[in-house]
Amino acid sequence: MKKKVSILGATGSVGRSTLDLLERAPERFEVVALTAKRNVEELASAARRTRARLAVIADPRRLGDLEALLEGSGCEAAAGPEALTQAAAGDGDWVMAAIVGCAGLLPTMAAVEAGKTVALANKEALVTAGPLMTQAAQKSGARLLPVDSEHNAIFQCLAGNRLKDVARLILTASGGPFRGASEKHLREATPAQAVAHPKWSMGAKISVDSATLMNKGLELIEAHHLFRLPPEKIDIVVHPQSIVHSLVEFIDGSLLAQLGSADMRIPISYALAWPERIQTPAARLDLIELARLDFEAPDPERFPALRLAREALASGGGASVVLNAANEIAVEMFLAGRIGFIEIASTVEETLANFSAPVPKNIADVVELDRETRTRVAATLKAGCA
Ligand code: NAD
Ligand code: MG
Repeated sequence: MKKKVSILGATGSVGRSTLDLLERAPERFEVVALTAKRNVEELASAARRTRARLAVIADPRRLGDLEALLEGSGCEAAAGPEALTQAAAGDGDWVMAAIVGCAGLLPTMAAVEAGKTVALANKEALVTAGPLMTQAAQKSGARLLPVDSEHNAIFQCLAGNRLKDVARLILTASGGPFRGASEKHLREATPAQAVAHPKWSMGAKISVDSATLMNKGLELIEAHHLFRLPPEKIDIVVHPQSIVHSLVEFIDGSLLAQLGSADMRIPISYALAWPERIQTPAARLDLIELARLDFEAPDPERFPALRLAREALASGGGASVVLNAANEIAVEMFLAGRIGFIEIASTVEETLANFSAPVPKNIADVVELDRETRTRVAATLKAGCA
């Protein structure tokens, strides 16, 4: 029996890597649904190649184009937010949640509520709605398989171990393109420099998050929800080679780590085949050539985002939603050339300081708080830019 799989965000960096693995093993996988925001050409091409049954474009204005591109393929075309959640909750066993940002929350939750095995790349969904999502998974029987390389590494290290024997988790961070940069360099940093990640090839938003270290802040919150450990048991260490993807320290003093080349097809393949493993074309490590692995502490002065994420997690309530939404807007404005690099973190810090939000009771509360924060931050930043 083939595993029936769907990809939310099939045209992105994680989506493409997932498609690459599926196309290498057509005897194991059957593609049910693929979705994208507005790139109908790439979506239709992937749907044809994989013989997907359904292709959903989030932007309804592109439905006509998608229908035209899929004519005669046997693949159904649909558009809009409802079609997106239907694709997530529809036929199939396994769903890759790889939409970027809080925009992925509703479809990811739909997959969780439908009891799917959810390969979770969309960290912002867990950051904004962690407790609601893990509770929904418990209720529906859905399984969350972490795809973020650090969390996937921890998941691999935990296999066969008891959570109560864990002393702490150690998330590794590459340090991004501005590791060791001066304050002047950071002030003048351009979007092109910020997205040029030294080790990973990823979408623009997560690349900027890696440059500010907000990515690691989001991952701290993600790890807290996924592995149910208090924040003080989750440490961050900078490891510029990006070979050790994270570590678990156990109560006996043992450290287990997962190592591999910086290729997302490794963690994605683990989620695809779990609890088995499948072949991937990822480059193999040559330890002699590598020769050394370096570790250092993150710089809290230059990269305040990590502290902000810890503070948001500690203050609870809706702070993580506010942190995430303020960051999404600030990153968008930075990429558009409207604000400077160091204003990303300062925008998040000011928003958190001026906006306290109660604990969201349900997903509608999260969506509303996300929307409200975006509106406030966009208005403040636009006023500042004028
Ligand atoms: P990306 O920007 O390359 O792709 C995003 C995908 O989401 C695209 O298919 C796009 O069409 C779709 N999308 C974007 N906005 C949408 C919207 N409003 N509605 C519907 N669809 C929308 O992003 P990426 O780098 O692949 O990252 C995806 C997620 O995975 C992010 O949450 C990121 O943090 C996480 N992640 C990525 C990597 C990586 O290597 N790229 C590693 C770890 C975690
Ligand atoms: Mg990661």
